[in-house]
Amino acid sequence: MGLNKYYELQRTKADHPFLSPFVILKISMICYGVVLTERALNKVQEPMYCFGKLEPFGISFSGRTNGRVMPGPILLRDASNVYINYGELYTDPYVVDWDPDLELFILKEDEKIIDIVDFVPRPRFYGKTTSKGTPMEQLAEVRAQKLIMNAFQRCRLWEKGNQCAFCAFFTGQHINGEVDCQDIYETVNEALKEPGRFSEIFLSGGTDFGGETPFEEEIKRYISVFQAIGRNFKGHFSSQLMAPAYKKKDLQRIYNETGVTSYCPNIEIWDEKLFPIMCPGKEKWIGRNEWINRTIAAVEVFGRGKVYTQVVAGVELSRPHGFKTMSEALNSNFEACEFFAKNGVIYLSTIWRPHKSTKLGYQPMPPMEYYIRLTEGLHQIRKEYGLVTTNDNYKHCGNHPDSDQERLD
Ligand code: SF4
Repeated sequence: MGLNKYYELQRTKADHPFLSPFVILKISMICYGVVLTERALNKVQEPMYCFGKLEPFGISFSGRTNGRVMPGPILLRDASNVYINYGELYTDPYVVDWDPDLELFILKEDEKIIDIVDFVPRPRFYGKTTSKGTPMEQLAEVRAQKLIMNAFQRCRLWEKGNQCAFCAFFTGQHINGEVDCQDIYETVNEALKEPGRFSEIFLSGGTDFGGETPFEEEIKRYISVFQAIGRNFKGHFSSQLMAPAYKKKDLQRIYNETGVTSYCPNIEIWDEKLFPIMCPGKEKWIGRNEWINRTIAAVEVFGRGKVYTQVVAGVELSRPHGFKTMSEALNSNFEACEFFAKNGVIYLSTIWRPHKSTKLGYQPMPPMEYYIRLTEGLHQIRKEYGLVTTNDNYKHCGNHPDSDQERLD
């Protein structure tokens, strides 16, 4: 394989001097993937690094070694974190090795040292159980400073094959649905005992359109779960609800009855023709235009810069329906970002990782150059509108190179 990634990194840094080198490295690591050497895997079994065995979203990837656990996200030297699915079968991944002499984790391509890295430390509440005996690690995923809770561990859009075309999250439909509010309260309570660890609480879950009116059950559940989390706080607390695009009156109720401070209904893909193909369930239950209208109306409830929407960037270039050229795909995303920015909504990208369990199946993802240009463009547009992500930046999510870039503003 040679040093193709190393040279690509060097070229990209030279061509994009205004992009953070850590943002460039992050994009490259997500595009190519990362695997751990035996030495690194042994090292991350130590208590400081070892994350739980249980996956809150029920994702099971191949390649995981029995009896050994994986670490959390990778930390770069600027404190941004990179979320990697370690068990995926990458064709040309980076390697993280443990150097016993330096006592450091090293990111390498072949024998070339690319950088020094570390891992998000294991949170202290992992390994503990709630009073009902539920393992807390089953209830919360952790990024560098973000606590990720899941209210409903399956997605009902899968029921009639209406799931999003890129989604592999909920292929395991055997897992439990609703979470228990007391479990959630106790888990957050325990997590907050670790000083300075968490600065954001995130709540999401699979879609549940059930109820007398669509989403009634889901809205009730989110209110209950957020109220359970909120028993640990006074008033509103730094948090985000990622959920379908609800009507304004429902959002007002959620805002008034809970401590949530930001909201993220994901559009997933902007293009009018591609949206119903890629998100048939969202089209069926809400529809693209209504999704957009509700997202904009949410700004009246949560405030400017407190409503987000994400795209799974790269799906717009997927085969057989996607755009044929990078320019068309970039223009579509920039148009969306500008439209939302004008309306006070932050439009973020995440990087699409094709997976064989999805409708789109495994197929080559767009080149790194696409994500570099997208990151630069989205960040620039939001900057022109004075929009800054306070709930989804480098400290919290780690999945948005474009909001990581705000560190340089
Ligand atoms: S809404 Fe779409 S992306 Fe989200 S879990 Fe359901 S199918 Fe997957």
